[in-house]
Amino acid sequence: MPTMEGAGVRLRRSLGTRALSELDPFLLLDEIHSDRSEDYERGFPTHPHRGFETVTYMISGVMEHRDSLGQGGQLVAGSAQWMTAGHGIVHSEMPNPDRNLFWGLQLWVNLPAAQKLVKPRYQNVAPDRIPELSVKGAPVRLVAGTLGNERGPVDGISVAPTLLDLRLPAGGTFEHELPPEHTLFAYVLEGNAELGGTRRAARAGQIAVFGPGKVLTTRSASGARLLLVAGQKIGESIARRGPFVMNTQAELEQAYEDFRNGVLVSG
Ligand code: MN
Repeated sequence: MPTMEGAGVRLRRSLGTRALSELDPFLLLDEIHSDRSEDYERGFPTHPHRGFETVTYMISGVMEHRDSLGQGGQLVAGSAQWMTAGHGIVHSEMPNPDRNLFWGLQLWVNLPAAQKLVKPRYQNVAPDRIPELSVKGAPVRLVAGTLGNERGPVDGISVAPTLLDLRLPAGGTFEHELPPEHTLFAYVLEGNAELGGTRRAARAGQIAVFGPGKVLTTRSASGARLLLVAGQKIGESIARRGPFVMNTQAELEQAYEDFRNGVLVSG
């Protein structure tokens, strides 16, 4: 779904829409993919988060990141940032308009009630820390989770996530085993791919949600690039509005009040 977000950024939202509001534990998936700087350069100026995690995965271009803890830096092409907002973060995310193509994704991952107010934590993962493996001729970047004997660099996340960036060559197939209770979806970045048992191909910009089971299968006749995402269900009530995701309406009101009073971050 084409969506305008931040200070006027054109993006594609596949999760967190009216049609698909969430896939426990995942809350949102946005893709920015444009070579027109006016589509993205207004960025996401200072805004808060509480109660969940934001995951930024950069394919092309640079995102400038600054936050209320005084941290900041550049998220370059091929890097990932797993930010546990927990109790509260106030930050800005500004695409650098100097590059031609800006291509990046943001995934929101929920936190269980017991961890919604934890101390904020960042995992900034430089491109060379993400293992690039080859599975039957298909290159796979392992951001989170396990693949064969390899482990992705992201650790200590409550929903035990899997995040793979898979490039299927023409005629290629990929299979991966996951815990059966995990929620699993695929997002097509480029090309077309058949997912699970279906012979109907999903194309770039489409999300495919897998049913229960433990083996992920995907094949592509013409070649495809896909994000494969899985995580443990949390199974709790969700109260979300804007940049906050809590369990109850009262907690949501509290988040807005804390932000107004300047104590979202300090607590
Ligand atoms: Mn943000």
